[in-house]
Amino acid sequence: MHSLGDHLGQTLKQLRNDRSWSLDRAAQACGVSKAMLGQIERGESSPTLATLWKIADGFKVSLSAFIAAPPDALDVRHAEQLRQRPTSDDMLVAPLFPFDPQYGFELFELTLPAGYQRLSEPHQAGVTEHVTVIRGVMELLVNGQWQTLREGAAVRFAADRPHGYRNSGGQPAVFHNLIWYPAP
Ligand code: MN
Repeated sequence: MHSLGDHLGQTLKQLRNDRSWSLDRAAQACGVSKAMLGQIERGESSPTLATLWKIADGFKVSLSAFIAAPPDALDVRHAEQLRQRPTSDDMLVAPLFPFDPQYGFELFELTLPAGYQRLSEPHQAGVTEHVTVIRGVMELLVNGQWQTLREGAAVRFAADRPHGYRNSGGQPAVFHNLIWYPAP
């Protein structure tokens, strides 16, 4: 596990430059303050996952655009080697398959520590998540209801509406999240 604040800040700056967006313009598109965006770009602040999602949605890019990807040459990607804490959240994120436009999805292994809860704002229109529990027990908020998911359970849901993830148990819960993005 390593800190990726630099990667995140550089990516954000690059995206903004590509679009010739001022910090003001980016702040408006993302719903994140200009001050916060500046701090992230300079590597002075590690955003929450919620903030990172707002930024991804504002720029209409995938989440993995901000997360250091495994080298392309890697045939076998091992979650253990890829787990990182890209934001100030305690959730561990392993980008098993970062977003690739050819395939239209990204696949993460996500680890929720005991007691973790995150409410997610709606992602871009049409984004669909596929959650499969690998280890432990977790709860998923879909259609306003928390559902308990045990190991092996798999759920697909429209992620362009509010949803959430939580682990009320005492052990970490591990799941795969395949996030599908509609073609732009
Ligand atoms: Mn989500």
